[in-house]
Amino acid sequence: MTHYDVLFLHPPRVFKGFWRKLREKPEQKLRPQFCFVPMGLFSLAADLDERGYAVSIVNLGIEQDLNRFFNVKRYIQSVQAKIFAIDLQWVLSSSGAMALARVCKQYHPNSLVVLGGMTATWFHEEILRTHPFVDVVLRGEADYSLPQVVEAAFKSQGLTEVAGISYRQGKHIKQTHTGSILRNLDSIDPTRLELLANYEKYVYAGVYQCGRTGSKDGVSSESALWYPVLRGCSYNCAHCGGGQRAYRVLTGRDEIALRSPRKVADDLQILADKGVQRIKFSHDLEIGGEKYYLTLLQEVRERNLDIGAYVEVFRLPTQKFASEMARTFHSPAFALSPESPHEQVRRLIGRGFSNHEFFKALDGLKKEGIAARVFFTVGLPGEVPHPDPGWGRWLTRFKKFLEDVMAHGGLPLPPTVYTIDPNCLMAVNRDKYGINLLLKTFADYERVSASESDLDWIGHETKTLSQVDIGVLTSVSALTVHSDLMRMNVQNA
Ligand code: SF4
Repeated sequence: MTHYDVLFLHPPRVFKGFWRKLREKPEQKLRPQFCFVPMGLFSLAADLDERGYAVSIVNLGIEQDLNRFFNVKRYIQSVQAKIFAIDLQWVLSSSGAMALARVCKQYHPNSLVVLGGMTATWFHEEILRTHPFVDVVLRGEADYSLPQVVEAAFKSQGLTEVAGISYRQGKHIKQTHTGSILRNLDSIDPTRLELLANYEKYVYAGVYQCGRTGSKDGVSSESALWYPVLRGCSYNCAHCGGGQRAYRVLTGRDEIALRSPRKVADDLQILADKGVQRIKFSHDLEIGGEKYYLTLLQEVRERNLDIGAYVEVFRLPTQKFASEMARTFHSPAFALSPESPHEQVRRLIGRGFSNHEFFKALDGLKKEGIAARVFFTVGLPGEVPHPDPGWGRWLTRFKKFLEDVMAHGGLPLPPTVYTIDPNCLMAVNRDKYGINLLLKTFADYERVSASESDLDWIGHETKTLSQVDIGVLTSVSALTVHSDLMRMNVQNA
């Protein structure tokens, strides 16, 4: 039996049978198993490793996919750990995380079952009240609280002195005060990939095909890794749980924290040496300011790295940033999110750029040879405004916007169902945004996260769109994008 001090476990969305179903009927539409581990796990595990604890990260969805005989229950039974640390960052892990926590406690009643991540933080009180097999929730960023919980567990001490946690003590649920957070990210190490079992496979993980390698079946043939260059955000998009105000409520962070340019460049070198071919930056480097990204990119260039980059642009990229990225990385790709073809919708959610500015930015990326992927979110407040006679006009407008995107060199991505973040501004300030919330409690998220029905995952309605409207409009928009892309491929063939 393998013994760990701390075993980090990333829960698969569906605890049992997902990959078998997909193998038996590859064409069926399942919600993604979502095997991406939160970026912060590597540095949390690295810190404990440096303190002398025996740690490992196991991404159970990857293990299920790599080995069809892998059984989560049997695996948990076969290992020993003083602490089972389960991440519950995204709402879609809610059901899997709870199923996993239950099994950990069932087979290891004397071990501590600890949850962390943004969803666990938001629902910490409900989770502890309704799930007796969870012992501790680390609230917010856990760089300080996790090592203290581990130390307390090994010294058989109480947890009252550990800031930033909620925990079970007998029949009572206790909550300590919010703790400190890192003011910059230089003290952590996000490069210890080898702490994750099968990391060589993980870097090829797709959404459905996670864990499989090679270009077969459309699986990525390029290895890539999400890399935490900074924390927090300076913007407040109404539909995002990671915006400045939403994130502050969870973590106490009111300013972004950066990793210094030299450290980032060193990390990229280490990661490239470990086989990562493309870095997916957690944040738009431009929010660190021009001096920051110029220094960082210069440091990267000095190392002569042959590495690609992917950046999710938070507003619109400046031409200078685009040109510096193109000088630094091979085949850079940017993700741009106008979200809607309508400027008034964008303004309402806090993304004030006009269509003209957006297309100009696309032209700028094209000039630099940067691939631009364009993302939409269907069902935002203000979409299909009255007295619009119906969806027909919206779709006509959407189609025209897609044509313009492609004419300016962008690649539109089919919209997928958007599930409202429980702590985002439009969920919290419902009157302001005209939102009717359908998913309110952790129990709601736990229920829908196990569902394969897209409709279940739509957790809100707007003044103009019901849950069904949002579902239909999302499907029709996705089909429209698919057919336009197919037409483009035929024309280019
Ligand atoms: S969507 Fe991006 S830019 Fe907007 S608040 Fe969230 S993290 Fe920030």
